[in-house]
Amino acid sequence: MIRIDQEQCTYCLLCLKRCPAAAIKDEDEGLRIDVAACTYCSVCTSCCPNQAIIMKDRAQETRQPYPEHEGICLVVEHAEGALSSYFPELVTAAKQLQAMRAQRIYALVVGERIEDLAQRLLQWGVDEVWMVNKPGIQRYAEDIHYNLISAVLRDQRPSVVLGMATAWGRSIFPRVAVRLRTGLCADCIDLKMGPNHGDFIITRPTQMGEQFAEIKIPARRPQMATVKTNFYSAAETAHVAQGKIVDLSSLYSCSSSVLQFMGVIEEAAGKENIETTEIIVAAGRGIQNADNLRLIYALADALGGKVAVTRPLVECGWMDSMHQVGLTGKMVKPKLYIACGVSGAVQHKVGMHHSETIIAINTDRNAPIFDYSTYGIVGDLFTVIPEILSALNTVQEVGR
Ligand SMILES: Cc1cc2nc3c(=O)[nH]c(=O)nc-3n(C[C@H](O)[C@H](O)[C@H](O)COP(=O)(O)OP(=O)(O)OC[C@H]3O[C@@H](n4cnc5c(N)ncnc54)[C@H](O)[C@@H]3O)c2cc1C
Ligand code: SF4
Ligand code: SF4
Repeated sequence: MIRIDQEQCTYCLLCLKRCPAAAIKDEDEGLRIDVAACTYCSVCTSCCPNQAIIMKDRAQETRQPYPEHEGICLVVEHAEGALSSYFPELVTAAKQLQAMRAQRIYALVVGERIEDLAQRLLQWGVDEVWMVNKPGIQRYAEDIHYNLISAVLRDQRPSVVLGMATAWGRSIFPRVAVRLRTGLCADCIDLKMGPNHGDFIITRPTQMGEQFAEIKIPARRPQMATVKTNFYSAAETAHVAQGKIVDLSSLYSCSSSVLQFMGVIEEAAGKENIETTEIIVAAGRGIQNADNLRLIYALADALGGKVAVTRPLVECGWMDSMHQVGLTGKMVKPKLYIACGVSGAVQHKVGMHHSETIIAINTDRNAPIFDYSTYGIVGDLFTVIPEILSALNTVQEVGR
């Protein structure tokens, strides 16, 4: 509860000027706080020279159960009906939350000609698919997407909304959160559900990836989070689809998009997609210069893998950011990750430590990468990689 004590207020208007949410209204009877707009940031209580703004019983208020908000809604990313390969990870996250506290799981999908997709979504064991299927909701019409997604979420009132932290998710979810006047925890790596209604606990990296924050959202609904890709394992489809499709198409209209689709750049579309490859050879600053990357490519080619890099190499312009692994790059979990001249800083580790097997080649035996590698080779990559290549050659020749 927040209110202004009119008897203490001297009408200096300091609070009105400072309120970042424009929640303080100047009305005939005096100043009034619009509680729907107030974010409880405490700016006004701190700046008021007369302690005229009273904010109390906040703890009690934030424990309100929000009984009208129920269930977990997964917002579905797709490309003209082709389901995002990350959706099974989102299902795993939701099922784990459901195992912690029983609740329904919904999938929200908007697009055109998506009847088949809606049908296929049921195979993932969701209770309901909320479908808005209308002509004109094209793949890149993100303004239409977030308008519709916001409208459906406002009407259907799930307690938790989850999406993947993909390029699409990063574009859509902040805008949806603003529309719904709620918060968004982005790039989360762990989700938990407490025993009480509304106890949703989110873990995400903070302090430049050095620490992890546990976040609760007591005072706003829905509780929104995007999940980092490649952190959850992919769920299997349910054997028997028991849910139902709820067609909401007639309830919503959509205007034309202000965005114009220009085309797809092939590499971004997946040719060099390091997120789905089984073998990655990664180069760090130990590679010394861009020319030497040829050695990394040679090893990747010999193994049938792809090349990734640490952030400094992208910053030097030696490689484009599509190949960067880590906190501000891609999350990968290949079967084999060979880190060459990579120190293993936590911001890099967070993007690759779920790899099945990690081999590190580093001249410094105390490099942090050795702490989480399956195998470590203390040595000069300019010696070790040619030796591996020649061993692979020998193996191939023997096999002929
Ligand atoms: C907010 C923030 C976000 C970040 N995001 C990312 C991210 O997404 N991804 C990322 O990678 N980094 C990220 N970083 C940077 C990160 O902190 C590290 O600086 C970076 O990962 C280090 O890259 P590196 O291992 O290539 O370089 P270095 O730390 O300089 O390590 C080079 C390693 O090469 C070894 N070496 C040198 N010569 C040889 C040789 N001849 N043979 C074998 N080994 C050799 C050295 O012993 C050393 O261990 C981020 C930093 C911040 C602050
Ligand atoms: S608590 Fe913050 S948002 Fe609410 S009225 Fe005061 S300054 Fe504005
Ligand atoms: S800052 Fe305090 S005294 Fe000044 S207008 Fe706001 S409530 Fe009144």
